Amino acid sequence: MRIKPVILVFVVTSLCLAGCDQVSVKERRTEFLLDTAVTIAAYGPQAKEAVAAALAEMNRVADLLDANNPDSEVSLINRNAGRKPVPVSAEVFELVELCQHYSQMSSGAFDITVRPLVELWGIGNKDEYVPGPEEIDRALELVDYRQIILDQQKKTVYLPRAGMGIDLGGVGKGYAADRAREMLLEHGISSALIDAGGNIWALGERPDGKPWRIGIRHPRPKADRNVVAVLSGRDFTIVTSGDYERFFQRNNIRYHHIFNPATGLPARGLISATVVGPNSAEADILSTAVFVLGADQGLALVRQLPQITAMVVTPDLDVLLAGPLQSYFEFTGKEGVGR
Ligand code: ADP
Ligand code: MG
Repeated sequence: MRIKPVILVFVVTSLCLAGCDQVSVKERRTEFLLDTAVTIAAYGPQAKEAVAAALAEMNRVADLLDANNPDSEVSLINRNAGRKPVPVSAEVFELVELCQHYSQMSSGAFDITVRPLVELWGIGNKDEYVPGPEEIDRALELVDYRQIILDQQKKTVYLPRAGMGIDLGGVGKGYAADRAREMLLEHGISSALIDAGGNIWALGERPDGKPWRIGIRHPRPKADRNVVAVLSGRDFTIVTSGDYERFFQRNNIRYHHIFNPATGLPARGLISATVVGPNSAEADILSTAVFVLGADQGLALVRQLPQITAMVVTPDLDVLLAGPLQSYFEFTGKEGVGR
């Protein structure tokens, strides 16, 4: 199983979770889905039913979006690349539209047509390797979000060239976390933590009325220090993209799973990008986009979005922040704004 990034959520919140058993009914369950461990802890009289419904919903979303599941809508879109437009659910259509919006905003740093690159590099699979420049160029010819053809009326998605493919790995966990949150709210839950492999929804506040405290993993942890900062707050989602989550090393170079669509190589500008906001699908997209754009352009993008806060860590371990919630971050070491 992969080691998860953000999120020492268990460590940081475990005292609360343990101490709060008496004050309200609690349900906590972990399942493996969306290629990661998902944990939901909820408080309230209907916690058990709520968590079961939330996990069922996340499983449904996972089945819809998994490019490696031949029955998913995403697979159907990919199988028909260069052949015909594919009618999809309103849900998948809207998700692709959302991705397209942020692809435009990020000048293509976030691009769901990265699938040929994902398949070529095979990061995290048995066959992972460093491809040659010609192979990368060939894959890159098929990577371009502007070529996706969306038909609003017919709700179809069309990839016009054979070999193109979409991969919703950069948004799926966030979207699933949003859906899980909706399920918990429908069951009257006002205090819960959803951890979808580093995509956290801290719903409401802790059952004792205090703010949630979420630890953000240090991208280069040491024995005595594995958290770079802690975010305290109520009712927010926090998502981190890092180069330490899925990678392999060759000749002392780290090759990880977030690609720069401009080069076809793993993005090099940052080693971790954390995004905080009111919607986890968007925070997930933006954590990937900011990671690819690097500190200057990434934080410039964040400053255009009034509800979004971001924290980035550069390869030199400088920590930079942008957005309205900056003062809610506590730093645990010498790192801080501009270090
Ligand atoms: P994680 O899935 O590990 O939380 P991210 O949210 O940053 O990390 O998403 C990375 C995943 O998104 C990759 O595994 C791949 O499937 C896909 N991806 C990689 N590069 C990009 C990119 N530039 N734009 C959109 N999706 C990407
Ligand atoms: Mg992401």
